Amino acid sequence: MGSKVSFWEKDALLSYDIIIVGGGIIGMSVAASLAERWPKKSILIFERSLVPAGASTRNAGFACFGSLTEVLSDIDTIGQDGARFLLENRWKGLQITRKRLRDQNIGFEELGGFEVIDSDVVRALGRVDEVNHLVGDFIPSYIQTKVKLDGVRTDQGQKIVSMHGEGQLHSGKLMRALEAYCSEKGVRFRTGASVGLIEKVNDRFKVQLDDAIRDRVTFSSSILIDCRNAFSNSDIEPGRGQVLLTEPISDLKFRGNLHIDEGFYYLRSVGSRILFGGGRNLDFEGEQVQEFGLHVPIQSALDNRISEILDLKTPPKIDMRWSGIMGFTKDKRPIVRLEHDGLLRAVGMGGMGIALAGRIGEMVKELIEEKQLL
Ligand SMILES: Cc1cc2nc3c(=O)[nH]c(=O)nc-3n(C[C@H](O)[C@H](O)[C@H](O)COP(=O)(O)OP(=O)(O)OC[C@H]3O[C@@H](n4cnc5c(N)ncnc54)[C@H](O)[C@@H]3O)c2cc1C
Repeated sequence: MGSKVSFWEKDALLSYDIIIVGGGIIGMSVAASLAERWPKKSILIFERSLVPAGASTRNAGFACFGSLTEVLSDIDTIGQDGARFLLENRWKGLQITRKRLRDQNIGFEELGGFEVIDSDVVRALGRVDEVNHLVGDFIPSYIQTKVKLDGVRTDQGQKIVSMHGEGQLHSGKLMRALEAYCSEKGVRFRTGASVGLIEKVNDRFKVQLDDAIRDRVTFSSSILIDCRNAFSNSDIEPGRGQVLLTEPISDLKFRGNLHIDEGFYYLRSVGSRILFGGGRNLDFEGEQVQEFGLHVPIQSALDNRISEILDLKTPPKIDMRWSGIMGFTKDKRPIVRLEHDGLLRAVGMGGMGIALAGRIGEMVKELIEEKQLL
């Protein structure tokens, strides 16, 4: 008989104040905010993959707040307050992450964000003042309309606008720097650790993980935070995103981020390469999955469109293709809430969680303070 764990393990390795499930940008940003606020509390993050695998390590690295047509669509669906909430928190969230990790460590560059406005939605230009007014107190002159862009083909009737303050970063470096920052603050990070059963026994969460040597090991905490995003089950709809990366392009003139087709396609420079993604609108249902994988028709559409968009002598050669899984809420607003008894959730970041992440960590911290959970 005998116990599967020793006294030493139980006393010092299995018991925490806070356990976070999911080691993406949100799980780690939450850990960073909580470790800054409560340096003496013990915090553990569980990540099921050896290197976090959801959206945070597989995205396009736009440090963006919302393109003109995306903001207008938000205003029309979730109202002015909802749209402003998203813009303000993305803007403030990015400042938190940049200050915490430093631009050079995350590859942040303010190369600019541009949007191609198609002729059939050109009326969007008539609402530029409305958007600029909405965000004027934190991003002055957000949308600019007198924009000239090198290296991008535009049809007759298409217009280009730019989004002030938008930048791009290296998503791998960001995650590496965030992990190092959390680690410096004393946060423990266990990878290859898939959380199974979670139970509340008396005033502690019991969290079960598979362990090849001992079958199962149970960890415990007084607060548990679900940051599994698309893998969090209830309320969240998964959405897979397809991406390709070209080889270096010798005659590439475009630098920055480009939003196309109301955000359904996104293209950016990565040095002299181009990262191009999107096309989920070609098969919403087929891409509503939690499994990684290439969707061939969508990848072919990306191949075709890249040459239509960029003004290049020859079609670029493709070096890599991959997919990542996003998590969507019904109203586009992320879920940050106390479910019950010390169980919190911070999930549903949609297709724009990078800039938001810094603020989501702060929101979780504010919620714990408000409810006096620690
Ligand atoms: C192709 C693509 C392009 C994108 N481009 C951009 C962009 O340019 N700009 C932008 O702002 N946003 C972009 N996004 C969205 C952005 O990446 C996400 O909003 C953000 O990464 C969400 O972070 P997260 O931590 O909530 O989720 P995730 O990064 O998915 O993290 C959740 C983690 O939970 C782990 N997990 C799941 N189940 C368990 C379990 N049982 N036990 C332990 N761990 C578990 C997963 O392995 C995963 O690592 C893009 C997303 C995709 C897919």
